Amino acid sequence: MSNANNIQGKIILAAAGPGDPELITMKAACCLQTADIVLTDRLVSPEILNRYVNPAAEVIYVGKQCRRGNSTPQETINELMVQFAQQGKLVVRLKGGDVSIFSNILDELQVLIQNNIPYEIVPGVTAALGAAAYAGIPLTARGYATAVRLLTYYKSDIVPDQYWEELARTSDTLVFYMSAETVEGIVSKLIRYGVAQDRHIAVIEQGTTPLQQVHTSGIYEFTNKFEGYSFISPSLVIVGKVVALHEQFAWLANASVREQYFKPMASLQSNINHNKKAHVSRA
Ligand code: SAH
Repeated sequence: MSNANNIQGKIILAAAGPGDPELITMKAACCLQTADIVLTDRLVSPEILNRYVNPAAEVIYVGKQCRRGNSTPQETINELMVQFAQQGKLVVRLKGGDVSIFSNILDELQVLIQNNIPYEIVPGVTAALGAAAYAGIPLTARGYATAVRLLTYYKSDIVPDQYWEELARTSDTLVFYMSAETVEGIVSKLIRYGVAQDRHIAVIEQGTTPLQQVHTSGIYEFTNKFEGYSFISPSLVIVGKVVALHEQFAWLANASVREQYFKPMASLQSNINHNKKAHVSRA
């Protein structure tokens, strides 16, 4: 595979976990220690970059923000990966949560294949698993739910009405990513299709971070309790009978302050020189 004129670099698509820096895998931490370049998402704990990244490595923020501006276009990320790999660098492409859940891994894999660049994939703890654990909510439990669905409703045409009908009927636990801003829509769709009274809803803000807050209610009470409430990004929405178990099994108190744990891209990017070769020093 290697091009005779080039020293062959490599891309490691690695997961950082949902927030708590100790939820990164040992494998991903080892990769960060040997990396020449780290291309990191916004939803990666700054502690992870401080603790695990090889001090000689360049850290480049290439985060995306759903709905908001200040995103790095996927094309730029692709170009950076190819460019650095062709220079023979060991590049860790670090993604929040797990690498394959609601991430652009497909685009990145396609580009790597097209350019004959070797890669590895290192999995991680996705937000659903991390946030549920730190909220004391078992995602499946005997008598409660026998399956979990990972979903998103960040725009309204992504879930057709027929599927809402099915989601309202199922006893599966429903986990919605990128949907805190549309949570009132989720509730009203489920209610419209007759979701059972015993289904509860949790919105978990900044799960597994020191600023985690869990907000719960019965699904029919949600609008009264939280109408107009603005949840801090990132938040995860969990719907199901299992959510009621939070009351009994929560082991972590809500943070006493409501502050943002992950910095917005604008403030991270202001550190970057836009010539794409910028070195971003770690605080
Ligand atoms: N690849 C990531 C998901 C990326 S999509 C993973 O496997 O977790 C981004 C969405 O993930 C956010 O909008 C939010 O819904 C969820 N998310 C990520 N980190 C989170 C956290 N610490 N707490 C709550 N939700 C989180």
